[in-house]
Amino acid sequence: LFAGETTFLKGVVAMAGLPPADRLEVCFAGRSNVGKSSLINALTGHKALARASNTPGRTQEINYFNLGQESHYLVDLPGYGFAKAPVAVVEKWQRLLKSYLSGRPTLRRAFVLIDARHGIKEVDDEILTLLDTSAVPFQVVLTKSDKVKAGELQKVLDQVRGKLQRHPAAFPELVVTSSEKGGGIPTLRSIIANLE
Ligand code: GDP
Repeated sequence: LFAGETTFLKGVVAMAGLPPADRLEVCFAGRSNVGKSSLINALTGHKALARASNTPGRTQEINYFNLGQESHYLVDLPGYGFAKAPVAVVEKWQRLLKSYLSGRPTLRRAFVLIDARHGIKEVDDEILTLLDTSAVPFQVVLTKSDKVKAGELQKVLDQVRGKLQRHPAAFPELVVTSSEKGGGIPTLRSIIANLE
């Protein structure tokens, strides 16, 4: 699945722009700067597939990628929680996100990225609740694990596990990753490859 080349398909700004729902898809969500572009690049073995943007929250598109032999879509959702985005932009994006999450039958799993140093913040919890109400199964992926010591990581894992108990759509297993060091990337690949 990850041996073939991953290619950019399109950026979507409205439901009408979604490609046909003819294959499985997974999506990635996370606060701006959580390390989402880096993770997608590490996962697909590309250096700059998902733009590692210096202007967090600038891209308000749902970016579609063809994974491997065009068997799956990988969907990169815009980073959230960027305080400087105008209210109208945020509201438009929230409407699109809601429509996407509740109206995409082939969406098998959402991966929600959480910084291993910070744990789940309020803005993350809002997305998790939206995933619950949209009945989209989701799994938390901790990012930048190379930046925390083992003891610190354990505290964050406990915080995240505690919060997830209140989210019925959550998978209990967490994936701890480092795009920098490669930790957790094979695990994440096999999770995606085994989705049915
Ligand atoms: P995005 O806004 O969520 O797409 O975040 P980026 O992928 O652009 O990453 C934000 C910043 O975090 C960049 O400076 C990255 O180099 C850094 N970063 C991302 N992943 C890791 C990681 O696994 N380890 C470390 N140490 N830094 C990372």
